Amino acid sequence: MNLERLSTLVGEENVSTAIEDRIVYGRDASRLEGECQAVVWPSRPEQVAAIVEWARREGVDLVPRGAGTGLCGGAVPQHSVVVDLSRLIYIGPVDLGQRRIRVGAGVALGALNRHLAADGLLLPVIPGSHRAASIGGMIATDAAGLRAVRYGTMRNWVEEVTLVDGLGRIHRLAGDEVNDAAGWEGITGFVTEATMRLIPLPARRTVSLLPFDGEEALLAQRDRWLADPRLTALEYINRHAAEAIGWEARPHLLAEFDSDGGEIADPERIAALWHARDGLYPVLARSGYPVIEDPQMEGEGLATLLAWLEAEGIPAFGHLGVGIMHPCFHPNDERLAALYERVAEWGGRVSGEHGIGLKKKRWTDAAFQAEARRLKEHYDPQQVINRGKLC
Ligand SMILES: Cc1cc2nc3c(=O)[nH]c(=O)nc-3n(C[C@H](O)[C@H](O)[C@H](O)COP(=O)(O)OP(=O)(O)OC[C@H]3O[C@@H](n4cnc5c(N)ncnc54)[C@H](O)[C@@H]3O)c2cc1C
Repeated sequence: MNLERLSTLVGEENVSTAIEDRIVYGRDASRLEGECQAVVWPSRPEQVAAIVEWARREGVDLVPRGAGTGLCGGAVPQHSVVVDLSRLIYIGPVDLGQRRIRVGAGVALGALNRHLAADGLLLPVIPGSHRAASIGGMIATDAAGLRAVRYGTMRNWVEEVTLVDGLGRIHRLAGDEVNDAAGWEGITGFVTEATMRLIPLPARRTVSLLPFDGEEALLAQRDRWLADPRLTALEYINRHAAEAIGWEARPHLLAEFDSDGGEIADPERIAALWHARDGLYPVLARSGYPVIEDPQMEGEGLATLLAWLEAEGIPAFGHLGVGIMHPCFHPNDERLAALYERVAEWGGRVSGEHGIGLKKKRWTDAAFQAEARRLKEHYDPQQVINRGKLC
């Protein structure tokens, strides 16, 4: 591998084979580990295209990395060179009339939304990792999150995305073509910039927090809240997860409204509730349940899943409004495989938002595999980017 040539493309100080960097970049938030050969930090989109050209010639696998908050090993290298995109932090002028902004892939969502607040605007896709997750990583994983019930997933907010593919070609994808970048976790190319649609910052939010005696009553309340056009988030916390954060050991629903729909209006109390909700996964991870999953179910399948988790004593929470659940497991818990074997039977998807990466390939179906291979063949036939991921 000719690293000297790589250094001439981005500058010697922006390439590292130091053992400490290779350790840091050998993993992501999934806790999977792989082998990182080198790390490169481009700071301009054209440098990304040059890195791809270099990798094609060298036969090297490149792994795009945003903030590394991914939970399924998508950014974990396998004898690869990791391309850290966190220096692509261009933020263009806010287009107030059209409510949109052009940003670099490395911009963190939290930083973008702080910037937009000055103009009373917001990018409303809010994953639990909203402070750190990058715009490029969120597009690549088609991130969903706390407000998906109202605002859907990241792809809904991308007006145009610039993608550097595995042949070094630069595409500006708009309309339906956005789907060739969104949700494919980097196997079709590097997202370098995107034009994002925005909403006005809601003037007022209220929330309601309700405990229930069982999942049946809880699902009936969910249906009532789903019919309310003011609903912006609908989060489920099961009995075992509620107990872990010191709440009463009963299943709870936390609902947010963009006006007066909720019972709690005090901003400090609302912030404290969301803080507790954001802290659920870290608390469970520290209590011995670091493996977090994200099956997505609807209808009867969702009720069956909730009953199964409850009966098995598995702590779980999730975005109930869109049927995405986050059961958390001890490492090596065999019930994880049992869960994914049942997901298809119950009519669900193995991933509602975290993606497939390295971790969930074995549970994907033939139609998904065929589509992933078709896109790979079109955008990256030489397997230069994220080799072995998804398909
Ligand atoms: C505590 C916690 C809570 C979370 N909550 C949610 C949630 O509510 N909803 C949700 O959807 N996710 C959630 N996640 C998962 C994660 O934050 C998202 O998947 C996020 O979108 C990943 O962004 P990232 O910048 O960290 O990407 P990374 O982890 O760096 O990468 C993720 C994948 O995208 C690829 N990629 C990264 N950047 C690019 C790019 N510029 N171009 C092409 N490919 C790229 C990588 O190769 C990898 O396959 C959570 C994670 C944690 C740790």
